[in-house]
Amino acid sequence: MKVEFWGAAQTVTGSKHLIDFQGKKLLLDCGIFQGRRKEAFRKNRELPFEAASLDAVILSHAHIDHSGNLPSLVRNGFTGPIHATTASRDLAVHMLLDSAKIQESDVKYVNKKRKRNGQKPFEPLYEQKDAILTIKRMRSQDFGVPFEPIPGVVCTYYFAGHMLGAAIVCLDFTPDSGEPFRLVFSGDLGRSEVPILRDPENVENVDYLIMEATYGDRVHKLGGDAEAMLTRAAKETYAAGGKLIIPAFSVGRTQEIIYRLNCIHEAGDLPPFQVFVDSPLAVNATTVFREHVECLNEEFIEQLLKEEDQDPLGFRNLHYIRKAEDSKELNHYKKPCIIISASGMCEGGRILHHLKNNIENPSTTILFTGYQAPHTLGRRILEGHKEVRIYGEPHQVKAKVMKLEASSGHADSDGLLEWAQGLAKSGRLKNVALVHCELEPASRFAERLRESGINNVMIPAPGDTMKLG
Ligand SMILES: [Zn+2]
Ligand SMILES: [Zn+2]
Repeated sequence: MKVEFWGAAQTVTGSKHLIDFQGKKLLLDCGIFQGRRKEAFRKNRELPFEAASLDAVILSHAHIDHSGNLPSLVRNGFTGPIHATTASRDLAVHMLLDSAKIQESDVKYVNKKRKRNGQKPFEPLYEQKDAILTIKRMRSQDFGVPFEPIPGVVCTYYFAGHMLGAAIVCLDFTPDSGEPFRLVFSGDLGRSEVPILRDPENVENVDYLIMEATYGDRVHKLGGDAEAMLTRAAKETYAAGGKLIIPAFSVGRTQEIIYRLNCIHEAGDLPPFQVFVDSPLAVNATTVFREHVECLNEEFIEQLLKEEDQDPLGFRNLHYIRKAEDSKELNHYKKPCIIISASGMCEGGRILHHLKNNIENPSTTILFTGYQAPHTLGRRILEGHKEVRIYGEPHQVKAKVMKLEASSGHADSDGLLEWAQGLAKSGRLKNVALVHCELEPASRFAERLRESGINNVMIPAPGDTMKLG
């Protein structure tokens, strides 16, 4: 009886933890590695276990670093069930198909080069047909309702407050001999009191804990009033006669921005802008958000009940754009407007067209809403580079650049500690494994845990194990 850590081990992405229990194999998450191209390419292709030998998979949430390599499992012979919360399953439908499309087009690009060099073409990591087969294997589960993924193990999902459908995974083991025990996998933990989503829940009587520590060494700055800042950006851009361009992740951050704009609109503070959400994935994900009231917080529901159209993710001047030709139309749209588009770090997708067409115009405002990784176009613009390359062409940055100190999807060091202390209260906690983080923040957080009286903390490297029972 043990857990083997194969992904998100001393790194953030690629979440993959394998439980071995009385001859059965249960996988927690099967995420994709992101980062340097070559390394990610290799790591995502080499599964560290036989896909066909797994009995079941339990998914914590639909983010690609947790779900994105499920289609590889299926492509390599996995035939068991993939359990997910209903909302995660419904989001995964769109996210896995989107991811498959990206895999196919990435490899096409690489293969063009390889062909020129006389090299053999690569296969894509997986294709859209694999994503469809994966979705067919998914089993929707309700929050708070136990189910049995393998004999002797009962699983219950709790709210993680991180993204729509995101769950804390609680596993109750009853071995044939020996004492029953409880293992909790935090998945990605969110924060209390963020817009839209319900707060993370506490679990009690925990013996073993696998916990994320992404921001284990950081305390989030208070975001200030995001709504006030958004209002100011909108009013100033409107007065200048320009476009307000908001790069945002399609799932989560986009809906948060729409919700805030909706509230500003309801309060009568939004200039008579047209607002365009230009990302097919964002459009699909927004539909899923509307369907899952069980995941939404009271403030959002109150807003829903108050509004005539019963839709806090829609208002009169808001337009969702799916088709490429409608997106291209925006290039010729001359009036002031707001465009929300992906990718959030400006690494690809339709946002690049909008930046290309508007970045040299001083009446444009670019408003960043999330973390910008080093070396991305988003980071370069945010750092104040005067010239950036878009589609290989140099462009002068004349637009005004702003950053919304919006809420992060992850709890900070204080939030993580508080949550862990809640779990440890029963005094049963035997071992803690910190995952989903770089070594440095993990070590600092391990130190904080020890100071608070939580001992036996490990930071597993890939292939390390934690004994159970
Ligand atoms: Zn996540
Ligand atoms: Zn994650």
